[in-house]
Amino acid sequence: MKEIYLDNSATTALCPEAKAAMCRAMEVFGNPSSLHKRGAEAAKLLRSAREAVGEALGERFLKDGQLIFTSCGTEASALALLGTARAKARRVAHTILTTDSEHPSVENNLRLLENEGFRVIRVSTAGGALDMDTVRAHANADLFMVSMMLVNNETGARYPVEEVFALAKSANPSCVCHCDAVQGFLKVPFTARSLGADLITVSAHKIHGPKGVGALYVSERMLRERRLSPLLLGGGQEFGFRSGTENIIGISGFGAAAAAAAGQMRVASPRMAALCQRLIEGLSGHEIRVNRPPVAAPHIVNVTLPDIRSETMLHFLADKGISVSAGSACSARGGGPSSVLLAFGLSERAAASSLRISLSHETSEEDIDTLLLALFEGERTLVRAKR
Ligand code: PLP
Repeated sequence: MKEIYLDNSATTALCPEAKAAMCRAMEVFGNPSSLHKRGAEAAKLLRSAREAVGEALGERFLKDGQLIFTSCGTEASALALLGTARAKARRVAHTILTTDSEHPSVENNLRLLENEGFRVIRVSTAGGALDMDTVRAHANADLFMVSMMLVNNETGARYPVEEVFALAKSANPSCVCHCDAVQGFLKVPFTARSLGADLITVSAHKIHGPKGVGALYVSERMLRERRLSPLLLGGGQEFGFRSGTENIIGISGFGAAAAAAAGQMRVASPRMAALCQRLIEGLSGHEIRVNRPPVAAPHIVNVTLPDIRSETMLHFLADKGISVSAGSACSARGGGPSSVLLAFGLSERAAASSLRISLSHETSEEDIDTLLLALFEGERTLVRAKR
């Protein structure tokens, strides 16, 4: 039975370029902070990975501190949000603007800041569209920070963060704009400058790099105005923003994966978008409903089944060698209907009957057609949940 992996928003397979780079890095045991030959070898790997990730973000000439490697995307967002809130820079504004469908790595840190006295406004993303009227209503001098994801990990909605950041900065030039770009990185075209972001979170394992490596892009302005303070204190690695000896093997894999994905993106993204379209068209005339946002990333399709629980269909597909997801990997563990799908506008019942199908550059037309046939068979044969 051929395996069909359609859960690439949860994680992706390691690409050959990342694997090769990691194997090479395993031979380099030096500490990049050491001043001798072994240290210099490790520092060179670190430097070239930083350049590759920077270049993938459109930043060819990074200044010291503009790209900080972390242990994952979650840590990068925690550094962005808590590190900005705790920076010494004089703070007069108190409002943080975000969406009602952020990943828990952002939402849970914002709850913490809310408990510490910040006012957090969560803009509606009903139907997968950002409510720009609410954004405009809160674009004023009290905006301390905006934190918005580029692409939603469950629905694939691509939010107009550029527009929001521009509005925020014109209302308050000192507002800090953070973007969780984990799902959009090297899937939808953008650069750090085109987003107008001060801080951008990315993660290696969503772009065919290894798990356990992320990075935070930091704008020159943030550095100049000293708006970010570290969370991990220690030996001062990563320009003082993230102490701890760097994970050279993982970081090397990240750099190689970023370079490979950047090279493929121009072909891979439209190809994935065409496959998503094939899936959506294949579902038309069936009871399976597509939860399609107005502007969607090329690799994620969310569907609601007709009264069949997500897990029932997920296991049915798994028996046929097809891997999809009942939501994000995080909400799959947490139980309960996905708050993102509720924010999208689904009922609890519909949210509990939804699947996320997420593609990679390796997905083929045949994979999509096999999935469609399996979904239709499941639709016919699986026991419907009681109405
Ligand atoms: N942000 C989004 C939108 C994600 O989808 C994920 C992972 O699923 C993360 C952040 C967290 O990234 P990591 O797994 O590297 O911590």
